[in-house]
Amino acid sequence: MATALTWLGHAAFRLDTEAGTRAYVDPFLSENPSCPDSEREPERCDLVLLTHGHDDHVGDAVAIGKRFGCPVVAPVELRGWLSGKGLPQESGEAPNKGGTVRFGDVRITLTDANHSSSAYENDTFVYLGEPCGIVLRPDDGPTMYFAGDTNVFGDMALIRRVYAPDVAVLPIGDHFTMGPEEAAVAAELVGAPRVVASHYGTFPLLTGSPDALRPLLPANVELLAPAVGETIEL
Ligand SMILES: [Zn+2]
Repeated sequence: MATALTWLGHAAFRLDTEAGTRAYVDPFLSENPSCPDSEREPERCDLVLLTHGHDDHVGDAVAIGKRFGCPVVAPVELRGWLSGKGLPQESGEAPNKGGTVRFGDVRITLTDANHSSSAYENDTFVYLGEPCGIVLRPDDGPTMYFAGDTNVFGDMALIRRVYAPDVAVLPIGDHFTMGPEEAAVAAELVGAPRVVASHYGTFPLLTGSPDALRPLLPANVELLAPAVGETIEL
């Protein structure tokens, strides 16, 4: 069985590696208006990965981490904040940009991202460190770059140089992240032959679409735009 990626709506993905590890990236499930009902309660989970602290990304991470006793990997400030929400503190789960950690058959590296990271609590914003992207490398399977929430930035070329991703998951919805115009340049800089569209269609504000992105992409880049709930093999 190949590496399988399932879009759960917004920026939430389930990843099943060839070795059988099941990971959730930014598991915004129970409150996600576009998540299929059948996907709101994970059956199992071996690993949770978070790009930043906004609630449309942290989502159900604490509940999933507690229920399955699995690692929840997040940038250090965010991971510390989550430990205050009842997830046991585990330093191995709190890397920072440039750092690589391994859980089972998967290596995880945090990269840069240009965005913000906070939670709104008790009528104020709690600062949760810098947001990140994630490079995910299963022992058997493609190298995947989840850009997280970001605009395009020139150092995506460094992600290409160091990690040479096979697949890039890019936000395209506009407003809170880059839209199609910037995502096309991001695809060029990252250089992955396949791009998966993310962070669109959830709310009316997110107007970017795969149809708008497709004609802007470099000719050698394939755009994958799974339907919500659809699994694609990578
Ligand atoms: Zn977001």
